[in-house]
Order: sequence, then structure tokens, then C-alpha cells
Amino acid sequence: GRGRTEVTVLVLGLDNSGKSTLLDALRPPEQRARHLAPTVALQQDHFQSGGVSFSAWDVSGAPRHRALWERHYRRAHALVFVVDSSDRLRLGNAAVLVPPPGGLVRYIMCGVRCAVVAREELELLLCHPDVCGRRVPLLVFANKCDAPHALAPAQVAAGLGLERIADKPWHICASNALSGAGLTDGISWLARQIR
Ligand code: GDP
Repeated sequence: GRGRTEVTVLVLGLDNSGKSTLLDALRPPEQRARHLAPTVALQQDHFQSGGVSFSAWDVSGAPRHRALWERHYRRAHALVFVVDSSDRLRLGNAAVLVPPPGGLVRYIMCGVRCAVVAREELELLLCHPDVCGRRVPLLVFANKCDAPHALAPAQVAAGLGLERIADKPWHICASNALSGAGLTDGISWLARQIR
């Protein structure tokens, strides 16, 4: 590396996207006695391994807590955005909001919770003064690729509008945080970017 003592990776995403599961899969086995006590309020998860510090934040929490994770943007060397690829409703782009068969009822019932969508949260992240214009690599995990009716990574990328990102390297990768499939691919891309 560049002689850095520590690399900080921020893992962000809506609730239920799979952040905790994903971090648990990346965690060294001896540290898997997880969820002992989060040291920082509202920080979902945190661990260090081999000079890399991972921390996960739920960006769909109360807006008044936004400053809590935003203040970590400045020292982040890499950003990981986790999306539930089967959650078409909260992805954000009407063009890909094709309800899966039988899914219509769920769409109607979701009502007001639709307000927080992944695309909007990603946009807020990318236009933040501590992120915008910086070449911090952005890795998107199109997680839950095993779920029925999961969107393909290209569809998730279109839903999030990733093609508009010009100021930083980005990569999207299908993942299954439960089995670990896809995680190594994504993390090695990230490692190459940081090096
Ligand atoms: P978080 O709120 O973003 O931390 O999400 P969690 O890690 O708590 O995961 C939310 C739910 O999704 C849990 O029931 C997980 O077991 C499940 N889950 C997480 N990743 C995957 C995945 O890749 N595939 C499937 N099928 N379920 C997943």
C-alpha cells in the first residue's frame, strides 16, 4: 500500500439491505462473536482486520442522525453501498420498478415508507461536500442476488443511475451475503483501487 497504517471502509445502505450479514461474512472468524456492543450510537457494526477498518451505517434511519455517519465521509478511503436487489420498490428508478408476479399488493401496502429509496440516498452521499470530487472508490453490492425476482446488477446499476458517476471509480457486483458469493470479487476490486 501507500504506507497507510489503516484503511477506512464505510459500508452504507438502507435497512434490510444486508449490511450486517455482509460485514459478518467479511469478519475474521475469531471476531465473529458479533454484536457485543456497538461502541458508537447508531453505528450498526464495526470491526478491524489486517489494517482495514470496516464500519456499517444504516442510512434509512432518522434524518436527525444523518450527521453521525456523514462525519465519517471525510476519512473514508472507500465506500461500499449495499442494495437489496430484490427490493424493487426502494431502488428508486421508476423505469425498473416492474413489480414481480404477485408483488403488487406489497407495493401498495408499503405506502409512506417508499420515501427513503436507495437511489436518493446514494445521490445524497455522492453530492456531499466531503465525497463529491474525491476519487474514493465506490463499490456497490447488488446483494440478495439469490432472492426470487432479484434484479441483475446491470438493472440495479440503471436503477441507481451509476453511469452518471464521473468523479470516482465505481464497480457493481452481485452478492449473496448469506453464502458469501460475490464478496471476494467486490472486495478485491476495492483493494486494487485503494492500493
Ligand atoms: P441490514 O439491515 O442492512 O444490516 O440487513 P441484515 O444484514 O440485517 O439483513 C436483513 C435480512 O436479509 C436478514 O434476514 C438477512 O438474513 C437477509 N439477507 C442478507 N443478505 C442476504 C442475501 O444475500 N440473500 C438473502 N436471501 N437474504 C439476505
